[in-house]
Amino acid sequence: MAWTIAGRTGEWELVCGLEVHAQVISKAKLFSAAATEFGAEPNSRVSPVDAGMPGMLPVLNGFCVEQAVKTGLALEAEINRVSIFERKNYFYPDLPQGYQISQYQQPIVGRGRILIDLPDGTSRAIGITRLHLEQDAGKSLHGAREGVTLIDLNRCGVALMEIVSEPDIRAPEEAVLYLKKLRSILRYVGTCDGNMEEGSLRCDANVSVRRVGDPRFGTRCEIKNVNSMRFVAKAIEYEARRQVDILESGGVVEQETRLFDAARGETRSMRGKEEAHDYRYFPDPDLLPLELDEALIERLRAELPELPDAKRARFVSDYGLSAYDAGVLVAERAAADYFEAVAKGRDAKFAANWVINELFGALARRGLEIEACPLPAEALGEILDLLAEGTISGKIAKEVFQEAFDSGARPRAIVEAKGLRQVTDAGAIEPVVAKLVADNPQQAENARKNPKIVGWFVGQVMKATGGKANPALVNELVKKALGLG
Ligand code: ADP
Ligand code: MG
Repeated sequence: MAWTIAGRTGEWELVCGLEVHAQVISKAKLFSAAATEFGAEPNSRVSPVDAGMPGMLPVLNGFCVEQAVKTGLALEAEINRVSIFERKNYFYPDLPQGYQISQYQQPIVGRGRILIDLPDGTSRAIGITRLHLEQDAGKSLHGAREGVTLIDLNRCGVALMEIVSEPDIRAPEEAVLYLKKLRSILRYVGTCDGNMEEGSLRCDANVSVRRVGDPRFGTRCEIKNVNSMRFVAKAIEYEARRQVDILESGGVVEQETRLFDAARGETRSMRGKEEAHDYRYFPDPDLLPLELDEALIERLRAELPELPDAKRARFVSDYGLSAYDAGVLVAERAAADYFEAVAKGRDAKFAANWVINELFGALARRGLEIEACPLPAEALGEILDLLAEGTISGKIAKEVFQEAFDSGARPRAIVEAKGLRQVTDAGAIEPVVAKLVADNPQQAENARKNPKIVGWFVGQVMKATGGKANPALVNELVKKALGLG
């Protein structure tokens, strides 16, 4: 995706890498048996390990390890047979241990990649540097009570996967495509629910700029916790333009951590960027190196579902869909399954159109996810059958769809109960046509000279028959009545 910033002194290119924190789907925390559910009573899901009580020992949750390996496999990444948990030391009130257990030198997952799907139908690979497991911190609640900050430790110790990308992103919109694809993959493999509002997926964006053609990287700033897809692109673009302005005025970009202020649409300095050595990382003496055996990795590989890229390619080759439509359908696994159920034994392109335009439209209007869709796939299939048989017209099909979606009634039952069958009997349509022609002699005269006006008569007949007349038949009868057939 070509994207540059035109400055006063020339063209600039964006260089961006993302660090994503994805909360692992797991009932228990990474090193304790406390529960992880969102929204529980504050400080009610805290074990002595999470609270950093003296003498408590962390016990690694094997399920979280499997989740990280599955994610790594889905990112086509190297799985490291041996990885090490280290302590990242810093003080913060919501971190009672005084350190976060993370992975530094030897993460569980190494290099991988994600393909992003560009609007022109091509794909581009964004490198994954690593994925490591670490503990989440608690939450500080500022302003809930006058003059004090409250601490909720429920999130303390919940397992996170930190997924770090290579600085391969070159346009703000590519960052959004990367996040969408990553989220889609995580949801397919069931290792993170991807909910950005609840904070299960959080993104830090690293941004620098350089003159077009310069192979060297500039100094980067890190924008913390940009928590919606919409703001990611805005924050990156703002930050890149800010850096171009500094450089063009002869200044230097300071390496620092910045915050995105969504209300103002700008980033502002939070603190100087700390270096890894500031954290005094060292291997956690309470935890042995984590060793994975090949059999476990292979079992998890065998459990992986068909992933979005493979599904998309199959939808293109088996169903003849465009790459774009296939991409839209596979973004959510449940939507892809729904489409396949509708397409089975039917015209697949037709099925795709109905799912993408009518169904997704109706879901969006009601603010529903596909999982909560009130119209079962068999019911949508029934509407397509009614259309294919010629029992109803396209216009009526949309009405039946809306009614079935709203009421839950079956399409065939709606058609029968409301008498919506298409009229294909010429004898029933001819008198309507004849009356229209007789009542509108001037229009009839015009239509004989300009065939485009024939459409006006067709529209009037459709209106008079409540949309039930067969449009092709009406067209034929109108032409005949005007002496054009
Ligand atoms: P840290 O933990 O200090 O932030 P990491 O090396 O873990 O550092 O990750 C840094 C992130 O910044 C990665 O996503 C990487 O792609 C990105 N990055 C590194 N150098 C640059 C640069 N010059 N410009 C933009 N992004 C960069
Ligand atoms: Mg960072």
